[in-house]
Amino acid sequence: MSAAAGALPPPPWTGAERGQLQAALAAGRLPHGLLIQEAPGAGGEWLALWSAQLVLCEHPEQAPCGHCRGCRRVAARQHPDLTFVSPEEGSRQIRIEQVRELGAELTLTSHGGGYKVGILSPADSLNRFAANALLKTLEEPPARTLLVLVVTQPSRLPATVISRTQRIRVRAPTRAESLTWLQAAAGAKPWAAALDTLGEAPFTVLGGDPEAVAEAASDARRALDALGGGGADPVATAERWARSELPLRLQCFERWLTERIRRAEADGHLMAEVRAGPYLSGGPPVLNIRELFRLVDEVRELRATLDVPLNRGVALEALFRRLAP
Ligand SMILES: [Zn+2]
Repeated sequence: MSAAAGALPPPPWTGAERGQLQAALAAGRLPHGLLIQEAPGAGGEWLALWSAQLVLCEHPEQAPCGHCRGCRRVAARQHPDLTFVSPEEGSRQIRIEQVRELGAELTLTSHGGGYKVGILSPADSLNRFAANALLKTLEEPPARTLLVLVVTQPSRLPATVISRTQRIRVRAPTRAESLTWLQAAAGAKPWAAALDTLGEAPFTVLGGDPEAVAEAASDARRALDALGGGGADPVATAERWARSELPLRLQCFERWLTERIRRAEADGHLMAEVRAGPYLSGGPPVLNIRELFRLVDEVRELRATLDVPLNRGVALEALFRRLAP
């Protein structure tokens, strides 16, 4: 994934935040702890690397220049004064040992004679013990230390950790901003279709294959329309979905349901029965809006528990049966 700052055009929706950080550094008010709260896939990690470049750039008067050795090493995550901490392979959590190693690293003298930087991403994945260990470093940070936590859900962090950091928000870009930026970053591709499936998350879209996403999305959509019209077998479809690209297909499922809720609301059918009409061509003939909301919740639940061993095929089949007329 080439989301490194410097390798990609700066996302314009982070412009104000970058300006604030530059001004804080120039005024000698850069905090030791930053909490970057990003909308999913909006570029929180990119801004964290940009912040590391800001303090490690070899041309302070134009930092981050993006071209010097310091900036390039940060972009490649190979700067000796940068420690990047994320869950290890096969784990969903940042462990206490990783945070202790980071703390020890930050107490060493900087190679470049300046800042030492630690980035934790996603910091939502710090377990309780790791978060407590991090608190010690945040309470007594060595001079010229910058700790950057990238989160989507800060409520998962202890309040004691949050209170030691300054919060910076990375909002979700508009569709136009996403499209312009993706085009500039990687040329013309089916970006709009991928954003339709994955939401306004251009960094997530960029990290994947937009053609594959668009294809999986249209396949999922066809299957859901067929199920809703009684023209598909729930058992066979569930088995097929469980075999490949399940997380992506579930995202499509959620989006397919929320689209139906929106259309029902727009047509003034709130809390009423939604009957098939021209505006729901191919959709379920009768789906109560409450049932749509319930289904959305259950699809989200299934998405959140994908790593829990269970018979996904059976869970999916049960959801599919409720779409049938
Ligand atoms: Zn530089």
